[in-house]
Amino acid sequence: MSSAPNNPCQPQPIAVAAPRSRRTLTGTVRWGSHAVTVGGDAPVRVQSMTNTDTADAIGTAIQVKELAQAGSELVRITVNTPEAAKEVPYIREQLDRMGIQVPLIGDFHYNGHKLLTDYPACAEALSKYRINPGNVGKGDKHDKQFGQMVDAALRWQKPVRIGVNWGSLDQELLASLMDDNAQRAQPFSAKEVMYEALITSALQSAQAAQALGMQPQDIVLSCKVSGVQDLISVYRELAARCNYPLHLGLTEAGMGTKGTVASAVAMGILLQEGIGDTIRVSLTPQPGESRTQEVVIASEILQSLGLRAFVPSVTACPGCGRTTSTTFQELAKQIDDFLRAQMPVWRKQYPGVETMKVAVMGCIVNGPGESKHADIGISLPGTGEAPAAPVYIDGEKAVTLRGERIAQEFHALVEQYIERRFGANAPAVVDAAAH
Ligand code: SF4
Repeated sequence: MSSAPNNPCQPQPIAVAAPRSRRTLTGTVRWGSHAVTVGGDAPVRVQSMTNTDTADAIGTAIQVKELAQAGSELVRITVNTPEAAKEVPYIREQLDRMGIQVPLIGDFHYNGHKLLTDYPACAEALSKYRINPGNVGKGDKHDKQFGQMVDAALRWQKPVRIGVNWGSLDQELLASLMDDNAQRAQPFSAKEVMYEALITSALQSAQAAQALGMQPQDIVLSCKVSGVQDLISVYRELAARCNYPLHLGLTEAGMGTKGTVASAVAMGILLQEGIGDTIRVSLTPQPGESRTQEVVIASEILQSLGLRAFVPSVTACPGCGRTTSTTFQELAKQIDDFLRAQMPVWRKQYPGVETMKVAVMGCIVNGPGESKHADIGISLPGTGEAPAAPVYIDGEKAVTLRGERIAQEFHALVEQYIERRFGANAPAVVDAAAH
């Protein structure tokens, strides 16, 4: 029997959508006095990875700085050779000199046990180590080399991420699970066994690290795959089986629109279910595109879900046959670019500015209404409308702009609004919850 009300038009209480929280342990990644908490009640963290040669200390430090300034709270660098390991302390030094405190995570494969042992300054300068259990050695070397990496983490008091990836899954474990599965009366599908292998690899490695002395809150897990449905299935199961903080990301997400959409869909669904404590968008940059794009997308995913606020949001209509000029598109882009470019300074100068909402709309149909919902919004004239652009501030019509300099004048109004509302002389924000 349907439980639908007799009269579907009768108002019913509608639950407000809100991401569910998953209770995890809380770990901390530190550099000096700077600490980034991950898991528990901490905000979902944005992280990123450089694509420079780590042996190029200056080039890598510059890219880390760009990623950090774009909003990356943790930055991972490849540590793949002795030359790279030798440069890590100098990269750290350069960043400290530039005032960039972002913790660095070392990404190790195959020779991490050796590099962390042979280059103690590298081990010390990093804030966290990524260990891929599929790439720490085969046979009887696996446990020994895994143990050496954990020993380094214990010695230098660093947390680790046990990062399993289906492109480098522990083949011995997979083969063993396949053999076991073949004995079952009703065997699982090959895909189900692969999911199980990813999760088992992560959980067994975490247990091994704990048996060697690591505290559970110093262990973050990830099980990355490149398919959206695969990622959702694997992380739901992983989250159900443990309370380690989870690093979430679609591996090899791809380029441009495909990589962006796939990452947003996969991570959006999981984050909405409370799964994921830190995220990375593994976007392949377009030729000439800044590496910081992956940080922008990760931040937008969290901001779109209402989990974090990083930059003021610009609401712009898509445009249609009612507007034939590109004025509103240009203005929306100018405002968006301007707000993003200012954020490294504004974060300190105008606390709370990241929560501001700006609307740039193309005509009278939705323009005034949407602008009233924003903190400051402009409704540009559509085709055939009077050449006037009403500006709404805090829901009220404040002024109407006309003429050739609408864009510049609106720009100035946005700056004035920010200064008045978030500047040093802004009225104190009253905490409504206190009343
Ligand atoms: S606000 Fe106007 S121009 Fe923009 S999409 Fe709606 S109808 Fe079209």
